[in-house]
Amino acid sequence: MILILLGPPGSGKGTSSIEICKHHNLFPLSTGDVLRERMKQTDEFGQYIAKLISEGELLSDEIINKLVEEIVVSDKVKSENNGILFDGYPRTVQQAQFLEKILNDNHRKVDAILHFNISDDAVVKRITARRIDRKTGNIYNLISNLPPENTELDLYQRPDDKEEVILHRLEVYKKQTEPLMDFYRKSGLIREINASKSIQEMLDEVNNILPE
Ligand code: AMP
Repeated sequence: MILILLGPPGSGKGTSSIEICKHHNLFPLSTGDVLRERMKQTDEFGQYIAKLISEGELLSDEIINKLVEEIVVSDKVKSENNGILFDGYPRTVQQAQFLEKILNDNHRKVDAILHFNISDDAVVKRITARRIDRKTGNIYNLISNLPPENTELDLYQRPDDKEEVILHRLEVYKKQTEPLMDFYRKSGLIREINASKSIQEMLDEVNNILPE
């Protein structure tokens, strides 16, 4: 199964992705996670990624497409999973066209696109409360998904989760990623998820949509 999660930053794609991948044995392909991992290397490319991410700007289609292709065709992804869940990719029409091509070349196709629908206000409120544990990568929320007490956590806030950057990321989303809705609408694969609900309610919606 090939799934795409489409929605603005803070719509719960990352958190839902972990559960959906576990349940359906999908390989989680979050381009944001791949880039954050790569930028730990502080060479020139790592610094370039860190700068664009902290400013809320997208990396070029060329860089992202190459990176995604390498993962999609890797033996690990092909042999060990029932498919791939794309989170944060594609983000532009050009990326969506490229994805169609590499899936075609590998005799695969997109099965469903889950559109996480949420207002800008709710995104800003949710994202400024997001914290991540440095050790485990677990995502918490100071309002809706409190970190467990009595556990030694090393919580941090992503620099691009600050309010001024989020507002810019939302603008970028509307300009560059929302046009994807038109691109995919004709495929009939878009399924709407009410992303202002709790994570568990969203997962229930997702499970009702996806085949077991
Ligand atoms: P995310 O974790 O998906 O919100 O991504 C964090 C940041 O990584 C984005 O704000 C972009 O700077 C960069 N990024 C992630 N995915 C893409 C993509 N598909 N195209 C371009 N830039 C991306």
